[in-house]
Amino acid sequence: MKILILGAGQLARMMSLAGAPLNLNVVAYDVGSKKIVHPLTNEVYSTTLEQSIAEVDAITAEFEHIPDDVLTLCCASNKFYPGKAAIKTGGDRAIEKALLSKTEVACAPYKLITKKAHLVEAVTALGKPLVIKTCQAGYDGKGQWRLKSDDQIDQIWSEMADFIASGSEQMPHTIIAEKMIPFDREVSIIGARDKSGNTVIYPLTENQHTNGVLTLSVAGKEKSAIQQQAEDAFNKIANELNYVGVLAIEFFDVDGQLLVNELAPRVHNSGHWTQQGVHCSQFENHMRAVAGLPLGSTELKQVSAMINVLGQSVIPHDVLKVDNVTSHWYGKTPKPGRKMGHINVSAASLHELGERLAELAEYLPEEQYPGVLATSTSLILN
Ligand code: ATP
Ligand code: MG
Repeated sequence: MKILILGAGQLARMMSLAGAPLNLNVVAYDVGSKKIVHPLTNEVYSTTLEQSIAEVDAITAEFEHIPDDVLTLCCASNKFYPGKAAIKTGGDRAIEKALLSKTEVACAPYKLITKKAHLVEAVTALGKPLVIKTCQAGYDGKGQWRLKSDDQIDQIWSEMADFIASGSEQMPHTIIAEKMIPFDREVSIIGARDKSGNTVIYPLTENQHTNGVLTLSVAGKEKSAIQQQAEDAFNKIANELNYVGVLAIEFFDVDGQLLVNELAPRVHNSGHWTQQGVHCSQFENHMRAVAGLPLGSTELKQVSAMINVLGQSVIPHDVLKVDNVTSHWYGKTPKPGRKMGHINVSAASLHELGERLAELAEYLPEEQYPGVLATSTSLILN
């Protein structure tokens, strides 16, 4: 079978690697160059997007900011999963919040903003501090402002007004203001739904962000009540969207109550640990779902952690001296802060995982790999 992925980054690469043993052959559409490329070598094919859509058995996406005309073409083929509605929902925070409200899944209190008076009202209604986000753009914490005092309103509004003005009638740009949630921690749930509506869900992942970017995830720590809350949210949202493929949901954990932060209608950085920690990774399950194959087991084999490699030109080879460590390099040109690869580590117990993270911390300086030592210490002490 042949599969076309919209987007040619590391997620397409890892889906392609997972699809190969299933005889699923992946080609990728690079939205920037508008070319069909090989997801591992970046070799450019002469095939047009239209030809590729006609040739393949299924189409999916590695990100949600896809031009509308491309989405429309793909949807017209009836081969596109998880479908336009899901992609649009993940790509627009206003649509996302409307879905959460419809499915009665809790999220941070918010107000939509299209003029300055709305911003002033949001400050009164929600209180300070506020996290203000662009609805349609932004990733890795970009396209966000933090409003802590009234004297920031004019400055933030002038920057927001530029963003709103850069929209068009077909592509309106809007802003959302959210109450800043004093969360205890951030977690995410990742699962897959097949074409018949069966779902499989991975163990919850605990995520650490540094400057708005995911730096470290740990899976296998969770109590069943929290896992159940996250699974309930997953099932409500996936069923409402008649979803096919892998869906990720990020939450804030506030004293044991989960509030949704955002959805990602795709495989997700916080699920990279599944390449080693479970029988069937998020990449393989996404490929299976869109290809119409049975879904694979998401049961935890080993507790696991994932460390992002940001802006580095290599992954230190010494990390491979540590037991149960795998290195995943994306083959991209290094740029400061860019996601270049990740390191997975698994163990039989949380204590042992902590010991392995302590060994890894010897090779991974805190400045480039924040939180490795602190996570190790907290796992060992617990
Ligand atoms: P990504 O796509 O990489 O997940 P993003 O740019 O879409 O990131 P968010 O996930 O919405 O942005 O926000 C990035 C981070 O900012 C969150 O993981 C969280 O740490 C913080 N943050 C966002 N919204 C809030 C909020 N309402 N209260 C407190 N912290 C928040
Ligand atoms: Mg996020």
